[in-house]
Amino acid sequence: MKNIDWASLGFAYIATDKRYVSNYKDGAWDDGALIDDPNVTISESAGVLQYAQTIFEGLKAYTTKDGRIVTFRPDLNADRIVASAKQIEMPVFPKERFIDAVEQVVKANIEYVPPFGSGATLYLRPYEFGTNAVIGVKPCLEYQFRIFCTPVGPYYKGGIRPIKLRISDFDRAAPHGTGHIKAGLNYAMSLHASVTAHAEGFDENLFPDSATRTLVEEAGGANIIFIKGNKLVTPKSNSILPSVTRRSIVYVAKEYLGMEVEERPVALAEIGDFEEAGLCGTAAVISPIGLINDHGKEIVFSNGLETVGPKVRELYETLTGIQMGTVEAPEGWIHEIK
Ligand SMILES: *Cc1c(COP(=O)(O)O)cnc(C)c1O
Repeated sequence: MKNIDWASLGFAYIATDKRYVSNYKDGAWDDGALIDDPNVTISESAGVLQYAQTIFEGLKAYTTKDGRIVTFRPDLNADRIVASAKQIEMPVFPKERFIDAVEQVVKANIEYVPPFGSGATLYLRPYEFGTNAVIGVKPCLEYQFRIFCTPVGPYYKGGIRPIKLRISDFDRAAPHGTGHIKAGLNYAMSLHASVTAHAEGFDENLFPDSATRTLVEEAGGANIIFIKGNKLVTPKSNSILPSVTRRSIVYVAKEYLGMEVEERPVALAEIGDFEEAGLCGTAAVISPIGLINDHGKEIVFSNGLETVGPKVRELYETLTGIQMGTVEAPEGWIHEIK
């Protein structure tokens, strides 16, 4: 194992030894290989640089309690990047090859997989982008699919802290646009919203639907769940990114905790009725929400700004237990790297 102080790692890029690269040209992907070079050399007029033709994924490899090195539901990341590719006219990188590439990258960088109990993980970043020169607006003919990995530290240093959100006046996703795919372009346009939210003292934006601004959608990089009593409610909309974490939480709520689950449009006007809320994504699993500020009107959840509510805590502990091998996982969720 590398000599790294796992606990003090942040969420930042550190180059590791190997990355996987496959190039697409003349209508086909090449065999792909692990390489040493962390830099990408492409045309100054590459489609990714001019017209943002790029999509990505994010998942983690980590060590379970019994010492296995695993990833969590990589098949869902493989399916999602296929959907993303189709939506912005990129060639599909086959699902079996995606899983194989994930395995190759983890094995080649096995020394960077943090030990169980450190709270750190090896974050994997698969992505695909258009590489040939374009000036007229059209899909590229050549692409690169790449996976690198980087060790990241425990998300909550010094314990979980509830976060503060504001309802954004900026839009994240158009009703018939690209909100449901994991494309870099959705993130570029969220940066101004994010920087101004931070300047006002908020951790994240909560985006309403762009058409009516009356429904709750999601945060810039995380889906949202609400809790009332034994019921979990999560917004349903065609412009929300289908989070692997949120889909897993919905299953855990129903099948492990016996909760009632509603996936339906959620009105901004009803969020004050909920007792707890959380943001879900690979990085933090669940971030408890302390308050949501809707243009000066503050909705404070029952846990407040210092503590985590009981349902969010139970969901967090059950799902992280499944991931870490201390709670029995549903069939197919834990993908061991052998
Ligand atoms: C990646 C992402 C999420 C979280 O998805 P996970 O699969 O749980 O990591 C949520 N919303 C957006 C917009 C995202 O890009």
